[in-house]
Formats: sequence, structure tokens, C-alpha cells
Amino acid sequence: MSDVAPRGRRFARAGARGSLESVIVTPPRIDLHTHSRASDGTDSPRGVLEAAAGAGLDVVALTDHDTTAGWAEAADAVAPTGVALVRGAEISTRVTTEGGSISVHLLSYLHDPEDAVLRAECDRTRDDRLTRARRMTERLAEDFPLTWEDVVAQTGDDATVGRPHLADALVAAGVVASRDEAFATMLHPGARYYVPHYAPDTDAAVRAVLGAGGVPVMAHPGAGARGRTVSEETIAALAAAGLAGLEVDHRDHDAATRDRLRGLAGELGLLVTGSSDYHGTGKLNRIGERVTAPEVLVQIEERGLLDVIRP
Ligand code: AMP
Ligand code: ZN
Repeated sequence: MSDVAPRGRRFARAGARGSLESVIVTPPRIDLHTHSRASDGTDSPRGVLEAAAGAGLDVVALTDHDTTAGWAEAADAVAPTGVALVRGAEISTRVTTEGGSISVHLLSYLHDPEDAVLRAECDRTRDDRLTRARRMTERLAEDFPLTWEDVVAQTGDDATVGRPHLADALVAAGVVASRDEAFATMLHPGARYYVPHYAPDTDAAVRAVLGAGGVPVMAHPGAGARGRTVSEETIAALAAAGLAGLEVDHRDHDAATRDRLRGLAGELGLLVTGSSDYHGTGKLNRIGERVTAPEVLVQIEERGLLDVIRP
């Protein structure tokens, strides 16, 4: 565990006689939510760090869906890019309510990638994501010129498969113009082609992340455009189970939602993060468009099993 805050950048200006007139210290810029081709991003893991460097970030977390497969390549890119790496993942989970199940994405930071319980859950989800993608492809193939091979062609080796890969195959087949159009139409949960996939209960996933030495942070808790969101009571119950933080600053939250979540995080003693949810060219989200305060990363690193990998 490190005792130093992430590095910032210093700009010194020479005074009239060459003395140091002023020193301005800019805080490090930290983005804690990105995806690579290990799941549904379009950049390689190294490419994510290169993009982070290009955007002037000092620290980036790689948080592919239900996998840590991109960690090694990303770690190798720390020295050449000068960007520090937070090893993470975005765990697919579900909260079951009387009105049906709600998909909740749980960011996990700095956990043991070999932890048996967390690994088994991620493997089970990844397996079922594959079955689900095949079933969705079969349904889509009834109406559109789409084959399973088209989907595989869009999916990185050993990547966690998701609807974005189906979207890319539909774009390549000329059925839609963009991922966005596919999500707004045939890939939407309300569409008849949609099939859900297995995901562990959020409560169990929080415990599994903690058991693996990780720091669990709920991704975009108020992103209503993606589907139903969880209640404040549910977030409070998860906080009691060990949830560490809320991703408040995210492009899918409007100002009122951010204010509400920031207030809730304060009441519950949860960390507040801000991140881009960058997916390369697959989404409009620009890397570094939202950032996390350095003191929050210090807290995450103190609680996490692994260190941040610094250049
Ligand atoms: P899945 O996990 O397979 O159900 O697909 C959800 C993934 O699709 C998440 O990573 C989202 O970030 C991504 N996603 C959701 N909406 C869109 C969109 N309009 N364009 C591109 N990607 C999206
Ligand atoms: Zn994400």
C-alpha cells in the first residue's frame, strides 16, 4: 500500500530575476472507469492507457466487465505512457425487487484476481453472457442478416461478450448506423430480441468483492436511461453490507441526480467518484471527461488489497 498521494504536475514560472515567482500545483487527474477490448471497449488495454496519456490523465482504472484479462497488458503500458493504473473490474449484478430485477454494475478496485469466490461468479456471468449473446443473435437472425460468426468477428479474443458486440455486428451488416441506434432499437431491454443474462445478487457481489480484498463502488447508480435504478433504501442496505462508494459524476447523471447522490453518499459515509466510462469509439464518452478527487483514490488504495501501479 502506498503512502504517497498520486503525483500531480507542477508548473514553475521564473520571476524577473530568475527567482521562482510562483508554483502552481495542479491535482492529479484520475478517471476510475474505462473499458478495453477485454470486454466491450474498442481500444486494447495498452490503447486505453495511451488514450489516458493523450487526455492528460495521471491515473486510470481499467474496469472491464466481469474480467481482469486486460490487467497484464495495461500494467506493461504504465511505464511507457507514464499513466498510473488502478486494476479494477465492473461486475454485473442484480437487485431483485417486487417489480422485477434491476441491473446494477458494481465497480471493484484493487481486488485479488485469483480469489475463488469472485472469480467463480465472474466466470459464471461470462459463460451466461455467451449463451445469452447466442440466443439474442438467433432472435435477431429471424429478421436481420446476422450470423453468430458476424458477432464473433466483432469480439476480442476471450473478451466478455455484450450487447455492444451485437451492435457492432449489426453496424457491420448495414442494419443500423451506430451502436447508439442499435441500443435505442433492437438491443433495448424492451425489444423482443432482448435476453437477460445471469448475474449475482448485488448484495452477494459486494461481499464477494470485499472478500477478495477489493473496494466496491456502485457504477452510475442514477442512470435511468439504462433501465430502472435502485432506491435509496437499497443503496443504504448495500452500504451497510460494505459498499464503499457511489460513482456520482458520470455523464448519464443530470445535475439534480448528481446532487441527490452526493447528498446520499454524505449521509451514508460513502466515497464519491467521477469517471468517464470510456469505451473507445464505441460510445461518445471521452476519456477523462469526469474525474475523481485524489483524496478519494488515497482512500480506495488504503482499503484495497493491491497497489496502484505507478510509472
Ligand atoms: P450488456 O452488459 O451486454 O447488457 O450491455 C451493456 C453495455 O452496453 C454497457 O457496457 C454499456 O456501457 C453499453 N451501452 C449501453 N448503451 C449503449 C449505447 N447507447 N451505445 C453504446 N454502448 C452502450
Ligand atoms: Zn462501464
